[in-house]
Amino acid sequence: MKIAILGSTGSIGTSTLEIIEKYHDRYEVVALAAGKNEALLARQIEQFNPRLACITEEDSAMRLRSLTGRSKSVEIVSGADGMTRVASLPDADIVVAAISGSPGLLPTIAAVRAGKTVALANKESLVMAGSLITDEARRYKSKIIPVDSEHSAIFQLLNGRSRNDIKKIILTASGGPFLNHTKEELDKVLPEDALKHPRWKMGNKVTTDSASLMNKALEIIEAYWLFGLPQEKISVVIHPQSIIHSMVELIDGTVFAKLSQPDMKGPIAYALSCPERLRDTVAPLDFSMIGKLTFSEPDMERFPSLKLAYRALKQGGLVPSVMNAANEVAVEKFHERVLKFSSIPVLTEKAMDRFKNEKTLNLENILWAGDWARQESEKIAEELKKG
Ligand code: MG
Repeated sequence: MKIAILGSTGSIGTSTLEIIEKYHDRYEVVALAAGKNEALLARQIEQFNPRLACITEEDSAMRLRSLTGRSKSVEIVSGADGMTRVASLPDADIVVAAISGSPGLLPTIAAVRAGKTVALANKESLVMAGSLITDEARRYKSKIIPVDSEHSAIFQLLNGRSRNDIKKIILTASGGPFLNHTKEELDKVLPEDALKHPRWKMGNKVTTDSASLMNKALEIIEAYWLFGLPQEKISVVIHPQSIIHSMVELIDGTVFAKLSQPDMKGPIAYALSCPERLRDTVAPLDFSMIGKLTFSEPDMERFPSLKLAYRALKQGGLVPSVMNAANEVAVEKFHERVLKFSSIPVLTEKAMDRFKNEKTLNLENILWAGDWARQESEKIAEELKKG
């Protein structure tokens, strides 16, 4: 199998490469694309010998070209065109879409349009453009396999099951590090506190989103598009141990759950190998060590993000794109210490309130709505700072 990785220097990208290294008789890297981390991309090129590599800035690409010089037969490209080339390289069987946030949208669409099997880690692309991506996937015969752990779990549990038998799916959420914080304590959370996730090792954006439950909000919308279920059939339960990665409840009262160690290598490996399974991708579970698994209802008052997801689905159109972009700005402002942690969903909701959802749903307008939301969110951040 030949693999191209969009976002090779990020958390999912590096884990994917660890899997490829471990199962090197099965997988070969043909293309890598990275955002900014030139030094790590250089090491990855050295180790994995892709024939194509891309980095956002042309300056970085030039340095990489002189670094790899004559010793390697790799072509190094840059910019949006370069990302598209990596996403649609004719040689690649599977494209791992692991660029974080909205910059992942266009490369993901390029991979879908090239008819690739897409191992999708970039949930934001489905949040922004779910209907477009699922339509295009049908049209270009592209298979989308979720890498997000909850969605990978549901994908594995649904496996050929009749939709008529499904009562609902239950996405599990760790609840993040502030699960039991009062409203007052949430106001005082610092960026460094938000980056200490108790269970999962992930990038900064998704770790902050996990702490605000916005990650779960995005995952509700992601599930809606991946599994074609109405929003009433998508629910969330807090499960701090992160051993159950999600569940499917059937109409007869049966519930299937998918359990494993909280390690992203599991879902990544499954996305690369499915329907086959690779041996020992994650450490085994020791139930006597785990002791107990606990569950609770998410508190929508302290963590209003979940409500925003259901509202965005109900409103449809360009609203999910606005929600996503506003949250991205809010997370940035929180990390710049401009906004309080508890203002992240407040800013996001205000941007959604001010948006006129009138334009047609197409790629141009999705990008426009994102830009609109980013500008409006800058204004709202100023207002919240003063308020
Ligand atoms: Mg997840």
